[in-house]
Amino acid sequence: MEKKTFVTKEQIEEIVKTYPTPFHLYDEKGIRENVKALKEAFSWNPGYKEYFAVKATPNPFLIQILKEYGCGCDCSSYTELMLSDAIGVNGENIMFSSNDTPKEDFVLADKLGAIINLDDITHIEFLESAIGHIPETISCRYNPGGLFKISNDIMDNPGDAKYGMTTEQIVEAYKILKSKGAKEFGLHAFLASNTVTNDYYPMLAKVLFEQAVKLKEETGVHIKFINLSGGVGIPYRPDQEPNDIRAIGEGVRKVYEEVLVPAGMGDVAIYTELGRFMMGPYGCLVTKAIHEKHTYKEYIGVDACAANLMRPAMYGAYHHITVAGKENAPCDHVYDITGSLCENNDKFAIDRKLPKIDIGDYLIIHDAGAHGFSMGYNYNGKLRSAELLLKEDGSVQLIRRAETPSDYFATFDCFDIGKKLIGKEKKTD
Ligand SMILES: *Cc1c(COP(=O)(O)O)cnc(C)c1O
Repeated sequence: MEKKTFVTKEQIEEIVKTYPTPFHLYDEKGIRENVKALKEAFSWNPGYKEYFAVKATPNPFLIQILKEYGCGCDCSSYTELMLSDAIGVNGENIMFSSNDTPKEDFVLADKLGAIINLDDITHIEFLESAIGHIPETISCRYNPGGLFKISNDIMDNPGDAKYGMTTEQIVEAYKILKSKGAKEFGLHAFLASNTVTNDYYPMLAKVLFEQAVKLKEETGVHIKFINLSGGVGIPYRPDQEPNDIRAIGEGVRKVYEEVLVPAGMGDVAIYTELGRFMMGPYGCLVTKAIHEKHTYKEYIGVDACAANLMRPAMYGAYHHITVAGKENAPCDHVYDITGSLCENNDKFAIDRKLPKIDIGDYLIIHDAGAHGFSMGYNYNGKLRSAELLLKEDGSVQLIRRAETPSDYFATFDCFDIGKKLIGKEKKTD
C-alpha cells in the first residue's frame, strides 16, 4: 500500500511560523475514525471495552478524544495512574496492568478504584499487605509459555517473556484470590507485539477462552472479562497489508461462539488494551533537513534525533519517510537520514531511496503516533519536542509545549543552572 501523509507541505509551512521543527503532529480525524471502527468491530459483545495503553502516547488531550468513545486507560505506573485520574478516567475505567510493581503504585491504583491485573502469583500477598485487602474484582495475567505460532509462523516467544503466570500458577492464584474474597475475575495475556495479521487476536482469544473455561471448571470462579491486551500492529512498511479490524472482531466473535458460549460463559466481556493500533498511524514526526554530508555515504542531517523517536535506533525499526512537497518525485537518491546524537545508531533511515533532498526540506517520519514521543529521552542534553494536534477543522493546537533548558536543569536542586538560564532560553530554531 502506498503510504500517505495526513499533512501537506503547505500546512507544515504554516505551522512552523508558530512552532519550529522538530515536532510530533497528530491527526484528530484519523484517531476518531479508527476508534469508531474498533468499537463497531466488537459491538457484538455488549461488555466490550478498549483500555487505551497510556504508555504508547501519554498525552491527556489525545486520550480525552478516546474517552469520548467510552475508552478507559490501561496504566502500568504511578504517573500513568495520575494522568488518567486527571482527565476523569478512574474506577473500573482504569486497568492497572503492571509488572515488577512498587507498593505505592498498587496503593494508588486501589485508591482510584482501578481493576488490578496481577502479573505474578507473589503479588497476591504483596497486594494484600500493600492495600489491606483483596479487591472484589481482580484479574491475572497468563503466560502459556512455549512458542506462539500461527500456522508455521512463530509470532513470538512467550516462554522467554518476563510477564504473566504459568498455567499451574494461574489456577492456584484464582483459588487463593477466591478464598480471600475476590468475586469477579479477569484473564489477560499479551503474547505477540505489533502483529500485522488478522489472525493474532482470534488465535490469542482461543488460548485465553479455553483457559478461561478450564479455570471456571477447576476453581468455580465467575469470569467477568477476558482482556486480549495490545499487540494488534500497524503497517510501518509500504509492502505490508494493514490489519482489518472488522475481520479481527469477527474472528474473535467466532471463537467466542465456539468456546465460551457452549461452556455457559456467554456473559464474558471482551476487553482490549491497544496502544499502537489506536495512535501509531495518526502521529508523525516533522523535522527539517539542516545538513548534508558526502563522505563514504550520502548523509542528510535533520533537526530531530533518536531522542525524539528511538524505535529505529533501538529496534532497527522501519519508519517510512516522505519529503514534504516531493511526494511524486522519483526516489532516485540513496541517503542515511541522521540525527545529531553522538551515537552512530542515530539514523532514522539507512540506505533509503528518497527524492533529492535540499537543505530546508521538511521530512515527515510516519507512524510515530505510538511508542514515539513517549519513548523520548534527554541523552546529549536533547530536549523533548512539542506535540501538536491537527484538528478536524484544519487548525492546529499545541497539546504539549517543547522542553526548554530550564526543564532539563530543573532537577539539579543544589545548583542554580536552571535559574541562571531563565529568561535566556535557547531558541530551538
Ligand atoms: C504495551 C502494552 C500494551 C499496548 O501494546 P501495543 O503494542 O501498543 O498495542 C497493552 N497492554 C500492556 C500490558 C502493555 O504492556
